[in-house]
Amino acid sequence: MGAPEIFAATAARAGRCAFFFDFDGTLGPIRDDPGSVQPAPGIVETLGELNRRLGKVVIVSARPADFLRERFRELPDVAVFGLYGLEVQRAGGPVETDPSAAPFVPIMRDLADRARAELPAGTLVEYKRIAVAIHWRTAPQVGPEVEQWAKERASELGLRLQGGRMVLELKPPGQRDKGTVLREETEGLSCAWYFGDDLADLRAFAALDDRAAQDPDFLAVRVAVANAETGHALVEAADLHVDAPEDVPGLLRELLAQAP
Ligand SMILES: [Mg+2]
Repeated sequence: MGAPEIFAATAARAGRCAFFFDFDGTLGPIRDDPGSVQPAPGIVETLGELNRRLGKVVIVSARPADFLRERFRELPDVAVFGLYGLEVQRAGGPVETDPSAAPFVPIMRDLADRARAELPAGTLVEYKRIAVAIHWRTAPQVGPEVEQWAKERASELGLRLQGGRMVLELKPPGQRDKGTVLREETEGLSCAWYFGDDLADLRAFAALDDRAAQDPDFLAVRVAVANAETGHALVEAADLHVDAPEDVPGLLRELLAQAP
């Protein structure tokens, strides 16, 4: 299907659709300082309109739910899934933490302290309460050393490692990931879109593939936000693509122009 057919098929399923978005590199351009990433211009307004007119909008990210909520305060109806689904905050509710992750709070606090003490200059340690991310965007040469250190800590503490764009994340060993969130949140719907830019997003694409395979009427739309680092693999697996987070509102406005 080309873009016009996809827009028409989605509009025909208005009210029975969901739109899932990764955050970093998808809705906001990646920055050297991960704390400074904000939604690109027009994102908040367009997601609000999408949520009202076509179907629920859901943010699914490796960031903590609180970080995401701060950036989407104007969209209280939009559910935010943080830490790959280990945290969720739905309309007006509190942040709920998956019970399997609670024992990891003290482990991650110690791990973050240790990362700050042991890793070379140029690494940036992001403590996320039940996960620790280590960034080296401003010092690409330390990547191999960080990877080695993280692998050792993962096997020592029984954690999972998740790679990303100049970032490695240590997280609890459970099976929750973006694909799990997609499987749960698309129940009863007849259409879902997923927007992503990184390798972890391929799991969400795969969950959409599974969903569509079970139900021939289900419309699954995979959208890649291209970039020089990992964009190629995503673009190959996607139905549609845009060149950067700044182009996401334009694509959504084309879709909204077809909405009933
Ligand atoms: Mg991303």
